[in-house]
Amino acid sequence: MNIQKVFVVGAGQMGSGIAQVAAATGYSVKLNDLHDDLVNKGLKVIEKNLDRNLSKGRISEEEKQKIFSRLQKSTSLKDAHDADIVIEAAVENITIKTGIFKELDHICPTQTILATNTSSLPITEIAAATQRPDKVVGMHFMNPVPVIKLVEIIRGLATSSDTFNIVKEMSEQMGKIPVEVNDAPGFVSNRVLCPMINEAIYTVYEGIATPEAVDQVMKLGMNHPMGPLELADLIGLDTVLYIMEILHQGFGDSKYRPCPLLRKYVAAGWLGRKSGKGFYNYS
Ligand code: NAD
Repeated sequence: MNIQKVFVVGAGQMGSGIAQVAAATGYSVKLNDLHDDLVNKGLKVIEKNLDRNLSKGRISEEEKQKIFSRLQKSTSLKDAHDADIVIEAAVENITIKTGIFKELDHICPTQTILATNTSSLPITEIAAATQRPDKVVGMHFMNPVPVIKLVEIIRGLATSSDTFNIVKEMSEQMGKIPVEVNDAPGFVSNRVLCPMINEAIYTVYEGIATPEAVDQVMKLGMNHPMGPLELADLIGLDTVLYIMEILHQGFGDSKYRPCPLLRKYVAAGWLGRKSGKGFYNYS
């Protein structure tokens, strides 16, 4: 199957990044969100990124225009009627995602692949909302999409090898490095990353070290480019808590219990960079 037409659901930070990279690597892309202003917001982010690439000499004005000409706006899932692949990057909510997949299953041709960029929800459950679970797959891009090379490709229980191979090839065409993973809570990325962040929060909670000291240990000692608490603030503490809860519920193992300090910060509205305060102050 030759993928040419890509339909991206959700024009937020991930959806706009996926649309940008797909358009820049030759795909014809429709970027969809609930309202026009939300799609425009996503396109503005893409324009800003491309302008930065232009000013740094990474692309020419002509290339920028070419990338833009491959992007179309959409505010209706019906526009996915001719898509070869849909990449869903709407909010992390199982009811919303299964609703979107059910609708897409009716709209899209039978051969269309339905991929989700979920960071933690079960691919198998999302696939079960459709009549084509063999064509449903996880395509987990990392933030920021134009910069980070990894795409975790997650096989649901019924994902076919054909679907997996097409999505793998497309990820490579998009300049990414795909890694194959089976469906399990947190996949690999968040199963390894979030417990490390949670443990770092415990060391602060137990008074073992300050956030600055914890981050320094991990940067200087382990060669991590960012400390776990800086990274938690970047991801969003609400998101980290949400993923820890998915791991805790999914495995029923107390080693994944979210740190009480993480709960307290989220309850206080200290969500990290996006709220101006988390383990560090951004005001
Ligand atoms: P975001 O809040 O920036 O964007 C989500 C967008 O989806 C919003 O613009 C919203 O209006 C739109 N949306 C909601 N319901 C919709 C619907 N029914 N139809 C169309 N659009 C709809 O969120 P994000 O950070 O871009 O995350 C999107 C997805 O990517 C989530 O599943 C998230 O778990 C996953 N993800 C996020 C990150 C990250 O670091 N932020 C990394 C990897 C994966």
